[in-house]
Amino acid sequence: MAEVEAIGQLRSWRRQQREEGRRVGFVPTMGALHEGHLALVDRARDLSDRVVMSVFVNPLQFGPGEDFTRYPRNLDRDRALAEDRGVDLLFVPTVEALYPEGADTRVVPGTTADRWEGAVRAGHFAGVLTVVAKLFNLVQPDVAVFGQKDIQQVTLVRRMVDDLDFPLRLVVAPTVRDPDGLALSSRNVYLDPPSRAQALGLSRALAAAEQAFADGETNPAALEGRIRAILAGFPGLKPDYIAIIDPERLEAVAAVVPGTIVALAARVGATRLIDNTILGAH
Ligand code: AMP
Repeated sequence: MAEVEAIGQLRSWRRQQREEGRRVGFVPTMGALHEGHLALVDRARDLSDRVVMSVFVNPLQFGPGEDFTRYPRNLDRDRALAEDRGVDLLFVPTVEALYPEGADTRVVPGTTADRWEGAVRAGHFAGVLTVVAKLFNLVQPDVAVFGQKDIQQVTLVRRMVDDLDFPLRLVVAPTVRDPDGLALSSRNVYLDPPSRAQALGLSRALAAAEQAFADGETNPAALEGRIRAILAGFPGLKPDYIAIIDPERLEAVAAVVPGTIVALAARVGATRLIDNTILGAH
């Protein structure tokens, strides 16, 4: 596995791949890698000849009171996991390289970014889209793989790819979970065992929603009631939102249909967790 920090080196590696006619797959991450990230690598490998992973904790997407400084970072471990999984090029730019003095341009998302995560995390998605646009311009992937775990993020990235004509295919990979259902997340390291037990409420509530839908429930208020009933059994979990929404604009639906998304966000202590499911997809 090659590892590059400098933008110039990345560009010359990319030029060489093009000259040799290789398709490049791309998995952007903030590091602290887990099996969820590595499953994206598997998917990228299936769809391309060379896989690039970036590890970059993007300051632009963190709000003032958020965990940018304490976000878990362990490049030695990430490097070993990425190499073991068959990443061909690990791109680890510095903050100064991606945002040199004077950098001032942002990608402004549409109104879909104002809801849910965006309502709680002002400016978050402008930060995400700005770094993703930069990384797409640098890596110039044929295929980019994102996780369903961050469903509003991938919805907005898809919008950006379409709206700004990025010449790439965007692929969404399913959420990887621990055997008990907890969605893998770099932030799970913040959870002590009692908090982790509370965090399970998210996947349990989603499972109840899936079951209710499978049993014929199509009323969003009734579905929300089922979710709240499960969450009530996890009093350490403080819900931020329960979103029962369409997959394009992420607006609350009047009737639940196959493809309707149920997205949850909640806090356990100081840790904020998100999870979601696409109804009728299993
Ligand atoms: P992050 O490092 O948290 O920015 O995530 C990098 C990519 O990994 C994003 O596309 C995420 O959606 C994806 N991802 C994070 N957690 C999971 C998971 N449990 N399963 C699948 N993909 C994930």
